[in-house]
Amino acid sequence: MPDYRHALQFGTFVTPSNASPQTPVALAQLSEQLGYDLVTFQDHPYQPSFLDTQTLMTWVAATTKTIHIAANVLNVPLRPPAVLAKTAASLDLLSEGRYELSLGAGGFWDAIDSMGGRKLTPGQAVDALEEAIDVIRALWSTERGGAFYKGDYYHLNGAKRGPAPAHDMPIWIGALKPRMQRLIGRKADGWLPSLPYLGETGLRDGNAIIDEAALEAGRDPREIRRLLNVGGALEVDELLALALEEGVSTFILTADDPRMLQRFAEETAPAVREAVDRERGGSAAPVRSAAAIALRRDGIDYDAIPAGLSAAEPGDFGFHRLRSNYMRGGNPGVVLQPRDAGQVVEALAFAREQKVPLGVRSGGHGISGRSTNDGGVVIDLRALNTVEVIGEKLVRIGPGARWMDVAATLAEHGWALSSGDYGGVGVGGLATAGGIGWLARNRGLTIDHLRAVEMVLASGETVRASATENAELFWAVRGAGANFGIVTAFEFAVDEVADIGFATLAYQVDDVADFLVRWGETVEASPREVTSFLIMGGARPGQPLIAQLMTAVDSDQPDEIIDLLQPFAEIAPLVQQQVELKPYAAVMANASGEPHSATGEPTSRSALVDHLTPEIAAGLAGMVATGASYFLSIRSVGGAVADVAEDATAYAHRSANFAVAAIGSSPERLNAQWDAVGFTGLYLSFETDLRPERITDAFPPATLARLRTLKAELDPENVFRDNFNVAP
Ligand SMILES: Cc1cc2nc3c(=O)[nH]c(=O)nc-3n(C[C@H](O)[C@H](O)[C@H](O)COP(=O)(O)OP(=O)(O)OC[C@H]3O[C@@H](n4cnc5c(N)ncnc54)[C@H](O)[C@@H]3O)c2cc1C
Repeated sequence: MPDYRHALQFGTFVTPSNASPQTPVALAQLSEQLGYDLVTFQDHPYQPSFLDTQTLMTWVAATTKTIHIAANVLNVPLRPPAVLAKTAASLDLLSEGRYELSLGAGGFWDAIDSMGGRKLTPGQAVDALEEAIDVIRALWSTERGGAFYKGDYYHLNGAKRGPAPAHDMPIWIGALKPRMQRLIGRKADGWLPSLPYLGETGLRDGNAIIDEAALEAGRDPREIRRLLNVGGALEVDELLALALEEGVSTFILTADDPRMLQRFAEETAPAVREAVDRERGGSAAPVRSAAAIALRRDGIDYDAIPAGLSAAEPGDFGFHRLRSNYMRGGNPGVVLQPRDAGQVVEALAFAREQKVPLGVRSGGHGISGRSTNDGGVVIDLRALNTVEVIGEKLVRIGPGARWMDVAATLAEHGWALSSGDYGGVGVGGLATAGGIGWLARNRGLTIDHLRAVEMVLASGETVRASATENAELFWAVRGAGANFGIVTAFEFAVDEVADIGFATLAYQVDDVADFLVRWGETVEASPREVTSFLIMGGARPGQPLIAQLMTAVDSDQPDEIIDLLQPFAEIAPLVQQQVELKPYAAVMANASGEPHSATGEPTSRSALVDHLTPEIAAGLAGMVATGASYFLSIRSVGGAVADVAEDATAYAHRSANFAVAAIGSSPERLNAQWDAVGFTGLYLSFETDLRPERITDAFPPATLARLRTLKAELDPENVFRDNFNVAP
């Protein structure tokens, strides 16, 4: 007899009586205190002595913390499925993944009819329920575009999808008859009958029908959980037999008597749990559905993923939140999410054995987009996100932390670390490439504050690199880190930083080239306390072109800030201006925590130039005017960045005063105009062009030769090659 090997669960079945409306709520709370996994309520909207079950479940969700909640079961003829989809997902989101959806075809037809439900034959009711499941799943789907569905009972005509539930919400069905059981086999995730209504062989017969229908539909019968409503009189042995011989893994106790709930929770449930674990010889492992297995990608040995390492596959719930990054759409074959450096070693060893691309992801904001891929392995370091103070102005930060969180933590100590301009960017990508931020001209690049890294090399070896240990690697990490391994921790010396001046100035620009030259001269003439970033897109039809400057002044003296900003106010007619004195952390709190959902390929070109000469300015103006670049951004560097010797780090273009980046929609159009300008230097963080010659733009010959030598030593098989490869 089957044991479908789902983890054992215990629940309660509470009457939603309205005689004393708080009683069912109190019983739900008691169920939680007693350690039940689940509390359920029958749904009979035509029953005058009952509360509305949907409303009751919402109330219960709001007044409990851990217990899962479900109806037992919802009356679909009286609850339109499109609305059910939304209610279920909303309740799941609000309860942080504690709601389960259980449906029934309805009964008591006269009552349903009198409530405005449509009178159906039993066969029609099953068909309608099947359509309801399709409708609910279509509306939960994260596919783009509206949902269309044309059934005999329900239609969707471009309905907006969403929200999706917070967790992989199962659909359980309350059923007794073969036709419904076949539907469960085809479509549902659980069977929920009541023991008293099943005959002697009812469970066995029902399971056989469900299993056969599942197999016919290409499913694994183990995908379907078997739940059972039971009375309190059953002994441990009987429940054990139901679990091991009839495949039941969720027992729901039908009782409103607190003493019975307590006895069952304290005596029966633990004894059954222990006996089942003993008989099974270990805890149960959930089975992956046949549909999910069909979505696996070639070249990845999924069975070899190390045990204990979190791995998300295309068929997994929530995978859509992991597949893409901020700028580039992707569809990896697996996203591994190590929780510590040891698991990074395991993840890398696994990835090396696969015949697919490897992407390393920290914050997922890489503009080249190589932290996702198509069909490959992604090692996603978001869980390595701690920010720890390890000494006076010395911090240890995980690669998965985001710069806005780093800034917020450092602010508690009056400290700051210049990073980039956007708080959502991850530490790993930025701190292995450079880090051109709001305080760059006064405090240098992010990498200039780096004191040590811990890193997993291609060999799997874990090393520490600093000025005194693995010094050559430490040199290379600061500008070309992605080619040498996976950084699992960074140690930075940070600065004491008071509030800073932060100005946002918008200009009407009639002559782009002239404006760029004037802004460039103003920046170069400014003391290093001033770091100015410029952004510009094409003009909207019939409107003037607007350029925006965001300028940080590393001072907390209002008069000094205004004096230093004054020359910028005179570059061109201002259409808007705002100056604030605020903490660096407040400047960085500019990103949301939304999952990344980019589609398509980004196109961005980058240069590091000493001056914004008339020739460069004219070239950039041409890109804006023709639309070859719809978003131009220029960040000022120089100052403290240029204090560091060219050969001190792999980031070598120290004389540059400006990091230029142009984003376009067509690589051909952008490349044609960009390449004609004859730029020098390149900051890898703003580049998407993977043509091999970009490496020679990013690294001067002496730097590149040094990097290649080290690469040959540390990564001779070129494991880390996907993001601007320094070939060994
Ligand atoms: C909106 C936006 C604003 C930006 N502003 C700035 C700015 O002002 N200044 C600036 O300097 N940059 C800026 N950038 C660029 C940014 O610094 C880079 O894109 C950076 O790589 C993003 O880091 P991440 O960890 O979020 O990216 P991810 O996409 O996770 O990683 C990018 C790449 O870095 C490598 N990598 C990631 N983690 C590790 C690791 N732990 N060890 C080794 N290699 C690793 C991988 O090759 C990966 O493909 C900006 C980007 C965006 C999208």
